[in-house]
Amino acid sequence: MADSRNEDPIASTGSGSCGGLERGGHRGEIWYCVDCACWLCEPCWLSYPPHAPGKRGRDGLEHERTKYDVYRKLENILTPEVSPATLERLHCRDLDSTWFGKIWSHGLLVIKSKDVD
Ligand SMILES: [Zn+2]
Ligand SMILES: [Zn+2]
Repeated sequence: MADSRNEDPIASTGSGSCGGLERGGHRGEIWYCVDCACWLCEPCWLSYPPHAPGKRGRDGLEHERTKYDVYRKLENILTPEVSPATLERLHCRDLDSTWFGKIWSHGLLVIKSKDVD
């Protein structure tokens, strides 16, 4: 089968597509291996040497299969995509909502918010 894509000889770190070398074709769900930092479909996962039956990682555990959507959710939590402009806007809104000042008025301490004259 001719494939126009350039197959990378090592496991891909790209997201969402199998980076394995299974010649029989990629099938089934794509799993993310946190330990190997690669995406592999079911046949490729099983044929990947670090994932051979009985193989253990550094921590003595077999490599865990992480679903793509779970990985994406985690990734979004850990590295939220917030632009500097958005951060600035949030910051300004925060300033607005928490701004208050204190003034002395006729011998009384008065807490004033920015919007109240
Ligand atoms: Zn595959
Ligand atoms: Zn692995």
